[in-house]
Amino acid sequence: MNPASPPQEPETQSFAETAMRMSGKSEEEAKRMGAVDKADEQVDRLFRFQTSNSPIHRAIWDGHVPLELFMAPPPPKGLPCDAVMTRSLEIIRRRREENALLNQDKKLSAETIDELAGAGYWGLLIDPKHGGTGAPFVRFAPFLAKMGTLDPMTSAMASVHGCIGAVDPLRTFGNDEQKNRLLPILASGKKISAFALTEPCAGSDLTALKTTATLVGDHYEITGEKLFITNIVPGRIIGLVAMLDGKPAVFIAELPATETPEWQIVRYGLYALKHAYNVGMKFNKFRVPKENLLKPPTGDGLTIAYHGLNLGRLSLCAGASGAMRVFLANMLPWAHFRRTYGQSIDTRELVQRRIARMAALIVGCDALIAWGSWLIDQGYRGELECIIAKIFGSEAQKEAAIELFMKTHGGRSFLHGHIFGDNVHEYLAPCIYEGEGEMLGMAFFKSLVKEHGKAYFEPIGKALQANQMKTLNPLNPAHLWKLRGELWAYGKWSMGRKFMGRDRGTVPGLAPKLAEHLQFALDQCQQHAVDLSDAMKKHQLKLADRQCRIAELSQRVQDTIVMIVTLCWAHGEAKEIAIDSADVLCQDLRRKLTGERPSDAYFKAVGVLADKIIAGGFEELAGVPRQEIMMKY
Ligand SMILES: Cc1cc2nc3c(=O)[nH]c(=O)nc-3n(C[C@H](O)[C@H](O)[C@H](O)COP(=O)(O)OP(=O)(O)OC[C@H]3O[C@@H](n4cnc5c(N)ncnc54)[C@H](O)[C@@H]3O)c2cc1C
Repeated sequence: MNPASPPQEPETQSFAETAMRMSGKSEEEAKRMGAVDKADEQVDRLFRFQTSNSPIHRAIWDGHVPLELFMAPPPPKGLPCDAVMTRSLEIIRRRREENALLNQDKKLSAETIDELAGAGYWGLLIDPKHGGTGAPFVRFAPFLAKMGTLDPMTSAMASVHGCIGAVDPLRTFGNDEQKNRLLPILASGKKISAFALTEPCAGSDLTALKTTATLVGDHYEITGEKLFITNIVPGRIIGLVAMLDGKPAVFIAELPATETPEWQIVRYGLYALKHAYNVGMKFNKFRVPKENLLKPPTGDGLTIAYHGLNLGRLSLCAGASGAMRVFLANMLPWAHFRRTYGQSIDTRELVQRRIARMAALIVGCDALIAWGSWLIDQGYRGELECIIAKIFGSEAQKEAAIELFMKTHGGRSFLHGHIFGDNVHEYLAPCIYEGEGEMLGMAFFKSLVKEHGKAYFEPIGKALQANQMKTLNPLNPAHLWKLRGELWAYGKWSMGRKFMGRDRGTVPGLAPKLAEHLQFALDQCQQHAVDLSDAMKKHQLKLADRQCRIAELSQRVQDTIVMIVTLCWAHGEAKEIAIDSADVLCQDLRRKLTGERPSDAYFKAVGVLADKIIAGGFEELAGVPRQEIMMKY
């Protein structure tokens, strides 16, 4: 899991920076984009398998999909983390029943946090030699989905602490002294942690960070302001991002027991993550010991932030899966109870479609979690995979909450005490935190086309610049002649694609209906490479400004990948209900990609799946708490 320490590489201008400069962008924008891109490249170098080796990158650019990288084996069992997980679930189930999860502020209480600490909850991701149980991520992430069905805040807090908080930065980038000193405290749960990155001026644009750190004697003095930071309570530990010598750096800071002139909390009302303390903070020459600066082997503070965010994005998808299980578990008894025009609404096609769609979305999330976590454990960077999980998970949860859950519960959705009405903001906010979905979709596109751009378009761009030409006109023979070398290389790639045989990859024993979706997705992958390349060819250096096209192409690739991941996962599960749910999701995604209308056969399949779920066939709902039906008649 820990990245190797590659040698420091000489500072070179990134492709994005070159392209921005050549396209006439301002020096500031080019530099900022270059900084983000460089941080990204530096993170990449930390991993055994970099983005260009990722299953998604290869699926698009290799010409055939490496299906073996889409088939995650079953997660290991019989690990020390098992007992911790069982105990933690028991604690939360009991405290939930006793109505003892929250404190007087309606936040996760110190008593709940302490009892979980006793069970080892906060040390799940920490190595045994530092006091934890070292759960592989492939066990941790699905566990969060399960915990999320009992208490979403407890589940989210494990990610805030273990993924984006101080745990991952220390585990991955801390030196031995820092790990030995700080990880046992974090594993014990005596102090749990948070990550303070966002500032009033810097959320989507992380190059705008203004908080600074200055070395004064044996400590750093931090000055600046943070906003929207989850889990900030006096006495806890934070990973704090501040600019040091012009570059972002991460410090592990212990918050004082009370506010001081150097550290002030900024309070506001916030609808989302309402059971956690989410506040702003003002730092004024706030002291952090010199030895608490993390020094990544390459890159800077953003390298550290991006690493933790990847894990956080998978955890977010797990949270979405947990929330949707709660939705489905509560939709079923309600839809059975509610009669209109003399019949239960669970016999109606429209409601059945919602039930089936909910199962399909859950299965999609579970597949992405299992696959992404497995890749992370194998040493893949997982950037593209984690972005898909985050976007799919947050959008699925939003759709499930509003289109499926709320609509099925009708007016009761808005009663005080109803799961939907009480928590609607919780279901929407994941679309924003850990990176807003469309911004992430653009980042996904950028990472996906980077190597192709470097190989074929950067040389063309440079040749244009050398020949003092602004754009390439393919109808102008002089242009073609001047750039003949560069164009030949691209032409070879393009012709190779044209004459490439159809990808006939198979998964032995795959159910016929899934096999058909697989072939569709394999064809799509080949087509996506051409479409992406055509967009680069058409818009050349202006492509970065064609955000809507980027977002559209990115989403098409994401949808295709979700199809492959889901059907491979369902095949591995070898359960009829998983296969049927995967089929429905694949049909939905296919129609999204082709623009076709749903067939009658689709509506029939949806009804059949819903009937199986209503009959109790969706095992994942076992143990999920159900709310009393409100306003019974
Ligand atoms: C409940 C909650 C918990 C959070 N917890 C934490 C935490 O623990 N730690 C932490 O550091 N942060 C946290 N955040 C902050 C969160 O990560 C940011 O809100 C998020 O990254 C978006 O930043 P922003 O709000 O500043 O949006 P802005 O930067 O203001 O962007 C708003 C929107 O503008 C659009 N936009 C911006 N730039 C562009 C562009 N170049 N091109 C096209 N469109 C653009 C996008 O749609 C974007 O979403 C939390 C936020 C919330 C709501």
